Amino acid sequence: MSNKKNGKLFVISGPSGSGKGTLREKALADVKNLVYSISCTTRQPREGETDGVQYRFISREKFKEDIEKNLFLEYAHVHSDFYGTLKADVIKELNAGKNVLLEIDVQGALQVREKISEAVLIFIAPPSIKELERRLRDRHTETEENLKLRLSNASKELALKDKYDFIIVNDDLETASRELRNLIENEH
Ligand code: 5GP
Repeated sequence: MSNKKNGKLFVISGPSGSGKGTLREKALADVKNLVYSISCTTRQPREGETDGVQYRFISREKFKEDIEKNLFLEYAHVHSDFYGTLKADVIKELNAGKNVLLEIDVQGALQVREKISEAVLIFIAPPSIKELERRLRDRHTETEENLKLRLSNASKELALKDKYDFIIVNDDLETASRELRNLIENEH
């Protein structure tokens, strides 16, 4: 897939609880000409989430249809649900000269790299697994079973961090946020 010399694609990944969601929001607020691609997911909305804002919440049937229609740039099965990025959304923004930010899991990021080799892959790492567990527990958004699943997935994701172009350790939010912003601005 070619995207001529238009916008640039940035992909951030990191375990659940690494703070990548907060870093993403800060980057979108701080960096000019950077837009977010809203993913599709089959998971249920959490309290406060709205369809079309955090995600497009769709059924498994619709997700499977969209896979068959080849609509996804990438998709993956994460924590027992499907998540995917619509190809048309990303291409439209890149062609309009926008830089696009995806916040997706490791499997998805590696699929993006296969298709768009110029994509910049950034891994957000927690200072440690212990700290990650503490943050996830403080969030009170997951059941114990889901939390365990997220922690076990975190170890698997961390093992793949060297496949990324850049690693940012999110120990202090302000520092990590500045690093991410500088990185995106310098890679434009
Ligand atoms: P959450 O359910 O906590 O919002 O997200 C769970 C995981 O799914 C996170 O690691 C997030 O980065 C990942 N994710 C969100 N959207 C996508 C997507 O479009 N594709 C892939 N591969 N992963 C996604």
